[in-house]
Amino acid sequence: MDLKSIRKLTLTINSIILLLVFGLAGFFFLCKASFLIWFSIPTTIVYLIGYVLIFKDRLDIYVRLVYFWLTLYMSVSTICLGYKFGFHLYCLSMIPIIFYTEYMAEKLNRSKINAIAVSGIIVTCYLISTGYAAYIGPIYETENGIAGLFWLFNSGIVLFFLIVYSIIMLRMVGSYEKKLTDIAHTDRLTGLYNRHFMMTKLEDSIAAGGEMFVAMLDIDNFKKINDTYGHNAGDYVLETLSKIMRASLDDSEISRWGGEEFLILSDGNAEADGLPKIESLRKSIEEHEFKFEDKEIIVTITAGLAGFHKELSVDQWVKKADDRLYFGKNNGKNRVIIKTDAELAK
Ligand code: GH3
Ligand code: MG
Ligand code: MG
Repeated sequence: MDLKSIRKLTLTINSIILLLVFGLAGFFFLCKASFLIWFSIPTTIVYLIGYVLIFKDRLDIYVRLVYFWLTLYMSVSTICLGYKFGFHLYCLSMIPIIFYTEYMAEKLNRSKINAIAVSGIIVTCYLISTGYAAYIGPIYETENGIAGLFWLFNSGIVLFFLIVYSIIMLRMVGSYEKKLTDIAHTDRLTGLYNRHFMMTKLEDSIAAGGEMFVAMLDIDNFKKINDTYGHNAGDYVLETLSKIMRASLDDSEISRWGGEEFLILSDGNAEADGLPKIESLRKSIEEHEFKFEDKEIIVTITAGLAGFHKELSVDQWVKKADDRLYFGKNNGKNRVIIKTDAELAK
């Protein structure tokens, strides 16, 4: 969650609380709890100040002010009306939310909030006010029916905040989890899978079975591209090449295996499906106009293909493709090899 959405959420919460304050003032009128009716005036002022603080981006002061006032409000209402009204329940949602606020403040480099200390103060006020109401009795005598209405209303509000808080927390955890997984699985420059994740994909595919092949690709004379046009040009070639591969092999898994080497995993027969597929990729790379800072760069690739046989381990399978790539490199480059001369002679 970024600062903008936190501000929006805080504005919504402030408005909901302000509406509640007006609603509750009406209820207090019904109970003839005159002190609480008067108490609603400074409460309203606090939340109006809250708007100013939110607009001035002083969320740190806002949180402290609101928490101070809510704790006071909860305690005063409980002492005046007793715990049958359910005002003390507010601390059930205030405590988890202050821990979330502490976490967000730290994440956004805002001034630190000590959630444990704040919770300690809330719990102390809770014990004092509910203890007072239990042992000495509330200041105002009220009808049970009105108390029941308050109990339902306050419980509803507390549960609503707890549900909203839980949804926000779970969404946040889910989005961080996704971000971390993406970082762990992909290569930063090209956005392709990294070698580590591709190994898992290869192992999973072997376990699942079926006809499949791998293609090991390597950019030809890439060192020369770097030396002639600079490292940034080299990076541009890697990024552009990855885009071309993704566009033309949308049914395959593509990884950056090493510096300028890529490993592709695809379903199908190596000879019947893989060869035309990778040959067409090789052609489109050869024909693509790579232009970096107005300079045209000739880019070609060499590839080695290997179909899977069940007696192969992942390493042996990849090595087979790598050996064929090596053969292609030593025999003119810019080629797709499915069998070396030695294999053809067998
Ligand atoms: P061959 O045709 O035989 O494959 O020759 P080559 O020059 O492509 O291969 P070589 O292994 O000699 O050089 C690979 C170069 O790739 C060396 C290294 O600096 C460069 N390289 C590796 N990773 C990156 C990268 O992320 N960005 C850039 N710009 N260059 C990289
Ligand atoms: Mg190379
Ligand atoms: Mg290489």
